Amino acid sequence: MAKKQLLEFTDSGIYCPQGRFYIDPWKPVDDAVITHAHADHAYMGHKHYLAHHLSREVLFYRLGEIQLQTVEYGETVMKNGVAISLYPAGHVIGSAQIRVEYKGEVWVVSGDYKVEDDGISTPFEPVRCHHFISECTFGMPVYTWKPQVQIFDDINNWWRGNLHNGVATVLVGYSLGKAQRILQNLDLFNGTVYTHGVIENTNEALRRNGVILNPTERITADSVKEDVRKGIIIAPPSSAGTPWMRKFQPYSFGYCSGWMAIRGAKRRRAADRGFVLSDHADWNGLVSAIDATGCQSVYLTHGYTATFARYLNGIGFDAHEVHTLYGGEEEASPQPSPKESELENQDERNNIEPANKALSFGEDLGEAFGGLNP
Ligand SMILES: [Zn+2]
Ligand SMILES: [Zn+2]
Repeated sequence: MAKKQLLEFTDSGIYCPQGRFYIDPWKPVDDAVITHAHADHAYMGHKHYLAHHLSREVLFYRLGEIQLQTVEYGETVMKNGVAISLYPAGHVIGSAQIRVEYKGEVWVVSGDYKVEDDGISTPFEPVRCHHFISECTFGMPVYTWKPQVQIFDDINNWWRGNLHNGVATVLVGYSLGKAQRILQNLDLFNGTVYTHGVIENTNEALRRNGVILNPTERITADSVKEDVRKGIIIAPPSSAGTPWMRKFQPYSFGYCSGWMAIRGAKRRRAADRGFVLSDHADWNGLVSAIDATGCQSVYLTHGYTATFARYLNGIGFDAHEVHTLYGGEEEASPQPSPKESELENQDERNNIEPANKALSFGEDLGEAFGGLNP
């Protein structure tokens, strides 16, 4: 009989038969190790959860009273002889890569990651391994991020310009990750940062967890509209174009997403300004991160898996596509788009967003879960 792999891809998620635990499973299981608190990685219904300390309060907020064990980066937990340890993924606060070792064989599950230091998440750390399970949300060369300092210069200038022109500023980003990254990099000399309730709930969970964030003011029914219009409003994508947002008219609406790198993305989201800011690695980030692991084989879980696997195989890796249900939050494309394989040439491929699988467990679902808690 062939030797069992240390990690397997099952209908419920990534499974370690020797340790009898799953990593980011999407069906209810007894023992789940969670890379981070985004809805497509941290599902409800598991009996036991293991995650990083800094994911604790957001997981409670989103999933309710779960049985949760938390650890520090680098700390080891043993399960039936298998050593599990978490390393920073640089994706959002508390996000981790999961390192699994048994009898000298090492696997690393990246979860979602980015290699640029965003100034708020613990920076990504490459972990040596034999087998690396990687996302590749932005695994096409067209996705090349500028340093975030340039993006925030643009954002701060845009905000100043809006103040000058007497229009309110609304900036959209996901409630866990993007919202805090924006908050920590805004030029607060421009004015006050106001937050949509969904974002402020996440900020509060992180503050309960000991994270120091810049001051924010939650927008409530009592907020004075003219004051709010002189600050900047951080709102989730689900609020775009809603009556809630329209009450701040006239405003300029900015959207932060990696998808803003491609033509048409801004128009499709009816945004006035698109800022190319992502919590996922760009093409170069993915290639450098994979290379730094020194791994023999790579398993690609979500994103442009086919294209990226071909590329990696071409440069000497043993790369495979695997089917998972990951791909939510900013990974989700809000409208159906042609499948990569349906496109004829690279130019066309470079101008589309990936069809995002059958399911897109995005922000709204995450917030719906979160909304179950007071
Ligand atoms: Zn994520
Ligand atoms: Zn994800």
